[in-house]
Amino acid sequence: MSRPAKYIPYYDDIVEAMASPGCAFCKLQQRAAERYLDAFLWESVNDPRPRRQVSAARGFCRDHAWLLVRPGAALSTAIIYQDVVGAVVNAIRATPVVEKRSFWQRVEALWGGESRNDPIVRALQPQQPCPVCANAAEIEGHLCATVLDVMKRSRDFLAHYQASSGLCVAHFRALIGATSQPELRSALIDAQLAIWEALRAELAEFIRKNDHRFREETFGVERDSWERAMALTSGPQPAATSSRGGLTQTG
Ligand SMILES: [Zn+2]
Ligand SMILES: [Zn+2]
Repeated sequence: MSRPAKYIPYYDDIVEAMASPGCAFCKLQQRAAERYLDAFLWESVNDPRPRRQVSAARGFCRDHAWLLVRPGAALSTAIIYQDVVGAVVNAIRATPVVEKRSFWQRVEALWGGESRNDPIVRALQPQQPCPVCANAAEIEGHLCATVLDVMKRSRDFLAHYQASSGLCVAHFRALIGATSQPELRSALIDAQLAIWEALRAELAEFIRKNDHRFREETFGVERDSWERAMALTSGPQPAATSSRGGLTQTG
């Protein structure tokens, strides 16, 4: 398979990620999240501005916070979360427990708007998205643009796509949503549909072999089809801890 003559950012990363199981975009976003947190832990932790962003987000989201669990990161994590906990405490302290309400606010509360208008509920809400999620959204945009760009130049890339596990539903949706060009959409949809049809057949085979009448048959590639189907629809399993090593001995 030939590669584009001109250097295209992310192209090699996408092709490499497509060569191993799982959604390539999910894997590249995961790698970007690890890098983002590396920089945060080892470079930005003493800078109050990025820490304020995490506090405004009421902490990193559940998917990304646990990537901070890595050797040597305990002190930096404590510094970040001292601010997050402080921000939550300050937000509650600065908010009246019972707010004086106008007649119409009391009427709205009766019709189910109670929690939406509760000042403490509002103060506890994330005031901005998790910064790693915001970065992941940016990366997703670059990945979609790269695939569409190389596909416009040549269809060689399709062979990588067809041989891969395909994209997960969320990322395929983002990719298709990023182009209205009919030929491009058809080529990508055909490639993705063939992958999903093959997965559907593997799931059917797994279910068939679980029938007591076929107990003698051993499982083949369909053995983990149910796990792959979950990852390609609901998204991959969130990391319990980071895959990274640490730089300091603290924690
Ligand atoms: Zn994905
Ligand atoms: Zn996040």
